[in-house]
Amino acid sequence: MLKKISLILIIFLFSVCSSDQQLQPVERTKVLMDTFIQISIYDQNRPQEELRQIVDLAFKRIEEIERIINTYDDSSFISMLNREAANRAIVLDSIMYDLMLESDRINKLSGGAFDITTGSIKLLWNFSADNPRIPGDSILLRQLRWVGADYLKLEDHSLQFDSPEVRIDLGGIAKGYAVDQAIDVLKKHGITDAIVNAGGNLRTLCSDLTRGKRRVWIKHPRQSDSLFGFFRMDDGCVATSGDYERFFIFDSVRYHHIFDPKTGYPARGCVSVTIKASTATEADALSTAVFVLGLQRGMELIEQLPNVEGIIIFEQDGKLQWKASSGLKKKFKTT
Ligand code: ADP
Ligand code: MG
Repeated sequence: MLKKISLILIIFLFSVCSSDQQLQPVERTKVLMDTFIQISIYDQNRPQEELRQIVDLAFKRIEEIERIINTYDDSSFISMLNREAANRAIVLDSIMYDLMLESDRINKLSGGAFDITTGSIKLLWNFSADNPRIPGDSILLRQLRWVGADYLKLEDHSLQFDSPEVRIDLGGIAKGYAVDQAIDVLKKHGITDAIVNAGGNLRTLCSDLTRGKRRVWIKHPRQSDSLFGFFRMDDGCVATSGDYERFFIFDSVRYHHIFDPKTGYPARGCVSVTIKASTATEADALSTAVFVLGLQRGMELIEQLPNVEGIIIFEQDGKLQWKASSGLKKKFKTT
């Protein structure tokens, strides 16, 4: 099956260094997890070949994660879970276990807005295939009955579903997790300065080489080649969820792939949500959760969480507006 490839939501720019010490990263981009993943490392002391091998090891880890959580692949672990977890409790490997625990935590934090059992809803909208479509109301209502984190029983590293109708999809959290895992691999090999960017889920390590020189840019959600704004960041984790990467328009209405678990329809409150958090996994899941919660409740959640900041872009009277949380208000600059 042909996959859809979303463009990178956030572009990371490296401001110009003084010309005599222009810093070149060892850099590689691959298409994995249905998006572009770019790994860049900065190290002036080790041979390029050695650095390239370390980048390859980080990509290997991401490939390992993709093999497990890829719902497009019938032989993946998640596909097996979706077929069989209603019949028996299935022991999870450590990757799946980590992802289930963090999904559960964000589900509870967000009052159910982040819910991986929207997997069955995504299937109905056919967003995993190349021709998404609006499902009939009665089909959607029938399936909504089986959306809810309560239908997942996670006990002693095993997972069981309450019904064969339940389907999970980790598309709202797995890219962030892959970024964290790739950064762990880089750190284990002594890398102290790097960027891993998985389609707008990114994490950076910063050393004196790059300190003070990085900007996180948010793409303009309605003008594909423009930028909306930026903030400076040395070390950190950022993710963006938007209604403009995977969507279709029917009868002048935009339909995208972030679903409100209460209605089964695309969430309507936001255009784009950028979250800065302690891990890329948390940033990824929270960007999806806040998108579902909308401006008011989403911003309340951001403000209530320690070490979490965010920027929400929304539409009001046909115009784009934005709001930043208290820790980013002064730092975020629009173009
Ligand atoms: P992207 O994949 O473009 O980075 P997101 O991180 O917001 O965007 O993830 C969207 C994906 O998350 C969807 O394709 C779907 O797999 C999943 N998803 C959709 N709605 C929800 C939801 N309410 N809770 C958890 N996951 C969701
Ligand atoms: Mg997400």
